[in-house]
Amino acid sequence: MSGNNMVVYMDNNATTRVAPEVLEVMLPYFSELYGNPSSMHTFGGQVGGKVAAARKQIAVLIGADSEELVFTSCGTESDSTAILSALQSFPEKRHIVTTRVEHPAVKNLCEHLDKLTGHKHKVTMLPVAADGTIDLKQYEESLTDETAIVSVMWANNETGVIFPIAEMAEIAKARGILFHTDAVQAVGKIAIDLAKVPVDFLSISGHKLHAPKGIGVLYVRKGTPFVPFMIGGHQEHGRRGGTENVAAIVGLGKACAMAAQKMAEENTRVRALRDRLEEGLLAAIPNSILNGHKTARLPNTSNISFEYVEGEAILLHLDRFGICASSGSACTSGSLEPSHVLRAMGVPFTAAHGSIRFSLSVYNTEAEVDYILEKLPPIIANLRELSPFWKGEHAGKVGGGKCKCSCA
Ligand SMILES: *Cc1c(COP(=O)(O)O)cnc(C)c1O
Repeated sequence: MSGNNMVVYMDNNATTRVAPEVLEVMLPYFSELYGNPSSMHTFGGQVGGKVAAARKQIAVLIGADSEELVFTSCGTESDSTAILSALQSFPEKRHIVTTRVEHPAVKNLCEHLDKLTGHKHKVTMLPVAADGTIDLKQYEESLTDETAIVSVMWANNETGVIFPIAEMAEIAKARGILFHTDAVQAVGKIAIDLAKVPVDFLSISGHKLHAPKGIGVLYVRKGTPFVPFMIGGHQEHGRRGGTENVAAIVGLGKACAMAAQKMAEENTRVRALRDRLEEGLLAAIPNSILNGHKTARLPNTSNISFEYVEGEAILLHLDRFGICASSGSACTSGSLEPSHVLRAMGVPFTAAHGSIRFSLSVYNTEAEVDYILEKLPPIIANLRELSPFWKGEHAGKVGGGKCKCSCA
């Protein structure tokens, strides 16, 4: 950022600020309350009591029982634990069903397993439609007697698209197949009641809902076979060895209690801000396209493609104004690869390369939305002036020009 210290943070699907109230309840565990929650003495025991109270706050947010929660170090560990557990519980079953739009925490693990076992593990990656939604019939037909686990995210981190997890879990349950959902983006943003949604495993990450980085939860439904990932001490009833990250656990408990309270605000005020931003940008900027289903979507996320410009160039210009967003393409080895999510949705490369994700939180304001609505349209116009695809003979034609990457 140059010249000003203003930060307009709209990258909350990447990470969120720790809520001041969360930080406040954490601080004593870095100073006077340093006991080990497993200790027999009263000094440690009082810390154990606070971990139990936090566990209850988290359980309440998702309609679970406290004993069904296992603390982990992050969302990625929760995802790995669930999938690896299912494969070890049913060693004779070697088929995994997932989607093409999962977070790398699930996608790369499945691809890794496939390679590691010399393709003894079969992975079905279900396609999505142009609006990012899934075909339930195709999903149902993908399940076989060999399927050990289904892993499907509750809400997509790039587009915010929400999958019908209740129906999908019911279908797996009827076949006796374990079901995991990566709910890292959903928890705290939309209502979740696991009394009504028969998933076996669900992943949470603290830093996506205003708790700190380095704390995650894996929900394991009572009665679900479980094989631990981290083996060591008796913590978490032997389901995850390692001394608990007490401060972060207490912080996550507070964040979940606050999320339960703020769910209405998330779904009204934040949604209205998001819609105002989205509608304003789509109206002001020609050749801009919304990525993802319009309504089956998280209230905070908007992913928009600005055709004929590079997402990374847009981000750099936004950054000069202190605006933080993210782009659907990552610069790897010199070629700009558009995101696997947008590719799975079949977004043409002229649009996929210029995609920007805005992800809001309860801390965003109307003034910040207005600021982006003022700054972004001229940035796009200026970049297009420099774009051979916009100005040249191919202008206006989707598919014009050559793509340097492998997405075409
Ligand atoms: C951020 C994220 C993760 C990874 O969580 P970490 O705590 O950073 O490991 C997994 N899945 C989704 C959908 C995410 O958005």
